Amino acid sequence: MAKQPMLKFVTVNRDMPEKRDATVRSKDFDEIYAEFAAAKAAEQASRCSQCGVPYCQNHCPLHNNIPDWLNLTATGRLEEAYQVSQATNTFPEICGRICPQDRLCEGNCVIEQSGHETVTIGAVEKYITDTAWENGWVKPITPAQERPESVGIIGAGPGGLAAADMLRRAGVQVTVYDRYDRAGGLLTYGIPGFKLEKDVVMRRNDQLAQAGVNFVMNCEIGKDVTFAELREKHDAIIVATGVYKSRDLGGPGAGAKGIVKAIDYLTASNRVANFGDTVAEYESGELNAAGKKVVVIGGGDTAMDCVRTAIRQGAESVKCLYRRDRANMPGSQRETKNAEEEGVVFEWLTAPKGFKGDTVEAVIVDKMRLGAPDASGRQSPEVIEGSEYDEPADLVIKALGFEPEELPTLWDQPELEVTRWGTIKAEFTTGRTAMPGVYAVGDIVRGASLVVWAIRDGRDCAEALLSDLNAKAAVAAE
Ligand SMILES: Cc1cc2nc3c(=O)[nH]c(=O)nc-3n(C[C@H](O)[C@H](O)[C@H](O)COP(=O)(O)OP(=O)(O)OC[C@H]3O[C@@H](n4cnc5c(N)ncnc54)[C@H](O)[C@@H]3O)c2cc1C
Ligand code: SF4
Repeated sequence: MAKQPMLKFVTVNRDMPEKRDATVRSKDFDEIYAEFAAAKAAEQASRCSQCGVPYCQNHCPLHNNIPDWLNLTATGRLEEAYQVSQATNTFPEICGRICPQDRLCEGNCVIEQSGHETVTIGAVEKYITDTAWENGWVKPITPAQERPESVGIIGAGPGGLAAADMLRRAGVQVTVYDRYDRAGGLLTYGIPGFKLEKDVVMRRNDQLAQAGVNFVMNCEIGKDVTFAELREKHDAIIVATGVYKSRDLGGPGAGAKGIVKAIDYLTASNRVANFGDTVAEYESGELNAAGKKVVVIGGGDTAMDCVRTAIRQGAESVKCLYRRDRANMPGSQRETKNAEEEGVVFEWLTAPKGFKGDTVEAVIVDKMRLGAPDASGRQSPEVIEGSEYDEPADLVIKALGFEPEELPTLWDQPELEVTRWGTIKAEFTTGRTAMPGVYAVGDIVRGASLVVWAIRDGRDCAEALLSDLNAKAAVAAE
């Protein structure tokens, strides 16, 4: 009888790929985890219990067929594992690196629930696709036939690119417009290299360009080209612009020099550290933490990326202020631990009240406690009267989250319907809006969310759009 290759969780412990030592990794912007060796990937995949109802798959936004590709990895059938993995995910090697697996697939793994620690799903997913790239199994996109219809996609982030990939595979003429000079959206300029090295993103951009996707970069819709002009030019439009309006802070001194937005800070760092660009505000020190006492305000993933970037830039000290406690922070626990290992100090239950200095010298901080739960059941932070103190700072980074820009006004399209949060009103499963031929996907529909959800939206929207194009073509043929 053949040996049972799976269910090894009883005898094999969970093991992640090697994590580089904090003192070494905090000096560069390279990813912090090494790749699994082949035998290790097979061993870790073999821990899967192959459950009849795979909760990991149900909790993956893409419903990846995780048990099957774990089984194929455990038995050394890697090329088939890659085929199964890429059938549901446009960028598996990116999700394997940056999905918050503890909240998605791995957090719901059945062996985790039974106390044996989850299968390392993300690390295996990354390993499978990195191996596929190395071995030439990731083939160029070659449409079987060309279609006459053209689709314009506004935004080259994961949502727009996932849609571009599927539409181009079906032979549609695709043009992607973006106001940045490089494609990838937040994969390129938001998320730092130590979580996602940029060649991983650039090779996907190249693959799409080689497939005939036309990229029009440095082109801002609403400024360089109007939305109306774009609608004239294409049979359909997909809006995939993300959310970029930073939430702001008030209080005395909030306009002082040295208080900057997280997105500006991270974009400058990504440009300089990963692409070797020259950025004037980095050169001048405005967006450079070297030698400074840095205070980052916020408790989400953006704040985690800022504190860890500041450490790598050579800050004198890095503190993170968050108004709730560790258990109630929105950011990933894994990233918080990584940040602590690298030397970041977290000041839980603290909130800024104001700032001192024309060029910032200190943050005036209130200590907080958690009060009664609000309507959502979350405890509201309350100020502890008389607890105020000064936190010395010469660079303050605001990482309080993002909201949508006012697209109907900016694009002079009052009929583009938005929700009360300013996100575009679109069907989640198709991206269709009330405007004929206009679709929307990703953060601009969901609000600030995750890469894996943007990919899901892009894929769903491409499928709906193809079916709409087919229906139109059928009517025209009649
Ligand atoms: C700092 C940071 C770290 C994050 N870390 C993670 C993480 O670890 N894991 C995770 O899953 N998610 C993470 N996220 C969230 C994730 O990056 C987003 O949910 C995802 O990128 C959304 O994809 P999108 O395609 O909707 O938009 P985006 O990636 O934002 O792309 C939108 C694109 O549209 C372009 N654009 C906008 N307006 C216009 C216009 N008028 N004309 C032309 N182009 C325009 C922009 O330049 C951009 O390239 C992070 C977000 C941030 C800010
Ligand atoms: S896409 Fe994300 S949630 Fe889905 S299996 Fe991969 S890492 Fe897990």
